Amino acid sequence: MAEEKCIFCLIASGDIPCAKVYEDEEVLAFLDLSPVRPGHTLVIPKAHYRDMLEAPVSLAPAVFSALRKVGAAVMKATGATGFNIMQNNGLSAGQTMFHIHWHIIPRVEGDGLGVWEQGKYPDAETMQNVAARVASYLEK
Ligand code: 5GP
Ligand code: ZN
Repeated sequence: MAEEKCIFCLIASGDIPCAKVYEDEEVLAFLDLSPVRPGHTLVIPKAHYRDMLEAPVSLAPAVFSALRKVGAAVMKATGATGFNIMQNNGLSAGQTMFHIHWHIIPRVEGDGLGVWEQGKYPDAETMQNVAARVASYLEK
């Protein structure tokens, strides 16, 4: 259902303009207003869902297909040699627009965009314990 004050719902309904690059029955893709790099595109479902925990799995084929098509087009249009797909869930993860969306960010070698610093588990047992704890919630 569209939410009255949701900017992405208003973009999906055409009430707020956007720089549209792709649309089908279920999804819309348009340029991010504040791009990390030119061509930075957002893919949204036209229906309102807050995040990955709320969006139905049935949305997956339309989103997956749009991400592939738009990702390839963004690469060609910008001369990128790769692209990142990013999707934030929750404030702590950097989500600022609470209508689910996927970022497509074009990349070239040496473009200076940051990569996340990765660490290590202190020992193999700790790693197994964390895996077991996550798995235990999947069994519930
Ligand atoms: P998030 O941080 O929630 O993953 O990403 C939200 C994105 O939406 C941001 O990159 C921001 O620049 C973009 N954005 C916010 N408001 C608008 C808008 O009105 N139009 C467009 N095209 N992008 C927006
Ligand atoms: Zn919405």
